[in-house]
Formats: sequence, structure tokens, C-alpha cells
Amino acid sequence: MRLRCLFLVLVALLSGGVQQVRAQKICAHRGFWKCEEAGNAQNSIASLRLAQENGFWGSEFDVHLTADDVVVVNHDPSLNGISIRKHTYRRLLKTKLPNGERIPTLGEYLKQGAQSSCMLVLEIKPQKTVHKTLKLAKACVEELRRHQLLDPSRVMFISFSFEACCWIAEELPGFGNQYLEGDKDPETVHAAGINGIDYEYGVFHKHPDWVERAHALGMEVNVWTVDNEREMKYLSELGVDVITTNRPLLLRKVLGE
Ligand code: MG
Repeated sequence: MRLRCLFLVLVALLSGGVQQVRAQKICAHRGFWKCEEAGNAQNSIASLRLAQENGFWGSEFDVHLTADDVVVVNHDPSLNGISIRKHTYRRLLKTKLPNGERIPTLGEYLKQGAQSSCMLVLEIKPQKTVHKTLKLAKACVEELRRHQLLDPSRVMFISFSFEACCWIAEELPGFGNQYLEGDKDPETVHAAGINGIDYEYGVFHKHPDWVERAHALGMEVNVWTVDNEREMKYLSELGVDVITTNRPLLLRKVLGE
């Protein structure tokens, strides 16, 4: 009897003491940004292809609207100093990405995106007005539909625009939809119908309890952009769901994959 009690105490101690660690998903930032070292360019079709070939769970990229309302893939609001929102798509074609590619339209990017099961993590960049940002969000949804990628297992949305996240929550409630700014706690984001948060390392370092609080609400937790081993380990132990990184090969090693 005494032995049985001792055994039960030991089991209780062990199960309480061993932290449940979630399996983290690896998301390559801006296509697979560090592929620049191999002569590619961030947010280029070549960088997405490289992320797909490396078998990462997901690949993140950014979209903007040109002056003539073409959705293009680029991180910055300008390309080689030329403002995307102030110029037509035709004008933008006169300048090239560092790897010689022209700036991809979302349609061109999605053609490559359809080539593998790598999750397309689409960042809706805030435009000059909320009206323009929502116009961009709607244009993205149309383009995804055209490419038969409007599927929650193939695409998810992230944005610094709370309005864009609220719009996605309303229009596409079954899709991954994460808010990036880091200024709101999980309960506030959840109350707006948004089903995930994607905050930077410093936010979770300051509020480690936000991960558990978000999970308790059934939300997914993503973190950007984590490039060093110490932060990768910390977040892995904290139990975030997705780690977005410029160094997905290092992250794969840290996670023991
Ligand atoms: Mg981005």
C-alpha cells in the first residue's frame, strides 16, 4: 500500500513537473529571406520556391496595392526608392529585384505557391488609408479564389492593421487570421473575432502568460521574427505554435528536426 502511494505521488510530481511542449511550426520570413545569400531576393518567386523545396511548414510574404490597384508582393512600400502606391504596375516593371526578377504580382506569386503544400502566410500591409487596406484585402481574397487557394489549409492572413484582421474575421471566419502589432492582449483580440496573435519576441518576453491565455481561448500563437538560438529555445519552451524566422535552417536544428 505504501509503495502504491509512493508510486502515485511520483506520477503526480512527474506529470506536473514536465511541461507540455507544443510542436512548433517553422515559417520562413519574406519567402525565405536568407536565400539572398544564395543570390536570391526576399519576397521573390525564387525565395518562395526555396522555402517550398526546403519543406518548411510555411512561408510569409507581404502585399501592397499599386496606384492602378494591382496587388504586388514586396516587403517595403517602395521598390528601389519608387513608391508602390504612387506608381503604376507598368512603371514598377522598369526596376528589378536584386536577383533580376521583376516585382511579382500576387497572381504570379500564387502560381508558384500552388506548387507545394507550404502554407502561404499572407501579410496584408497597411496602406495609406483603412479604405485602401480593405481594398487590398478584398483583392487578395479574389486572387486566392482565382488560383483555387482560398482554402484554410493553404493560406492564412496576418496584418498590423486591426481593421484588416476584423474584416478577415467577418468574411473568412475559418481561416488563420493573426494580428501583428503586439499592443493588445489575447482577450481583446479574441473579442474582435480574430483567431490568432503574431507578436514579436519582446512582447512574449514581457507577457509570457499571453501564450497560455491565447491558447485557453483557442487562438493560435505565432511569433516574429526570431533569428537567434536563445530566443528560439525560450519560445519553444513557452509553447508558441509558429515561429517565423529568417533562419529556418537554424530553427530546424534547435527544434531537433
Ligand atoms: Mg512581413
